[in-house]
Amino acid sequence: MLNIVIFGAPGSGKGTQSERIIQKYGLYHISTGEILRSEIENKSALGLIAEEYISQGHLVPDQLVIDMLAELIDKTAHNKGYIFDGFPRTLSQSKALDDMLRERNTSIAAVFSLSVEEEELISRLLKRGETCGRCDDNLETIQNRLTVYKEQTEPLIEYYKKKGKLFKVKGLGSIEDIFESITEVIDRLSY
Ligand code: ADP
Repeated sequence: MLNIVIFGAPGSGKGTQSERIIQKYGLYHISTGEILRSEIENKSALGLIAEEYISQGHLVPDQLVIDMLAELIDKTAHNKGYIFDGFPRTLSQSKALDDMLRERNTSIAAVFSLSVEEEELISRLLKRGETCGRCDDNLETIQNRLTVYKEQTEPLIEYYKKKGKLFKVKGLGSIEDIFESITEVIDRLSY
């Protein structure tokens, strides 16, 4: 299996690059943000809880997201591999992910960290807020999300670096050029 994590601050282009990677390598896309937004739309019990956190720019509690992911992985056991987009976001989520994959005799092949300057992130997210109406794309929530990213998610860079799995990619430039830097790495991986 080819399992990839796409990692970066809100607005860094994780979703866009994930779509390209799926098209080329036929992976199963897991975006925890998208799943949570659909739970909110369906007004499920999980959605009602998640909405309170998301609208404030906070993370949804680890155990809820981990359980949600475990259930999905169980349901989608037979595929070429996964692309995890927006997960893991905390150290405890990354450990849970390692365990889940180990139980299935597989592991993460590579983690791509997309780096984009903060000013650019804010401008991208504000622009997205104008067009697609995501309730968390407003200035106050964006600032909270960036703080949460720095405090809780950025430390994962070190975690994956130590495991030799981290690949830094410049998130500025054309979508095509960024995608090419990612595929160069994937095509050299043995998995
Ligand atoms: P972005 O990274 O652009 O902010 P996402 O769609 O990945 O967008 O996530 C939107 C929101 O959903 C996050 O701000 C957070 O509240 C919640 N969320 C998504 N993934 C997770 C996760 N793995 N753990 C906790 N909360 C999450």
